[in-house]
Amino acid sequence: MPSTPCACGQPRRPNQGNCRRCHANEQKRYRQRRKEEIHHLAETIERILQPHQPTREHFELKGAGPWVEFLTTGNQRISGLVIGFLPGDHVRVLADSGYLHTIRLDQLAGQSSSLWSRIAAS
Ligand SMILES: [Zn+2]
Repeated sequence: MPSTPCACGQPRRPNQGNCRRCHANEQKRYRQRRKEEIHHLAETIERILQPHQPTREHFELKGAGPWVEFLTTGNQRISGLVIGFLPGDHVRVLADSGYLHTIRLDQLAGQSSSLWSRIAAS
């Protein structure tokens, strides 16, 4: 049975509701929305959390940006976005997995190519 074309008139992708180009455009809009959401989230967090200034200064002295990699106590490497500065040289990190981690500054393993940074740069 011949399938009905995509709304734009092009043939649909196999077993999908639209064509390749419409799908690509949809993905692009989705990434743009995600990017805006993440920027908005970061701004909101910045506003509601009172950053602990000494911890923030120690973090900045390390020259790390907001996208970081760190090693967990189980020696697992996790990348994510720093979203908070807590007393005692601890930072709050939103990991690529979506989980929040609280880590010590000395667990920082460097800059990351985190999922969040890739979305923000796209
Ligand atoms: Zn189409």
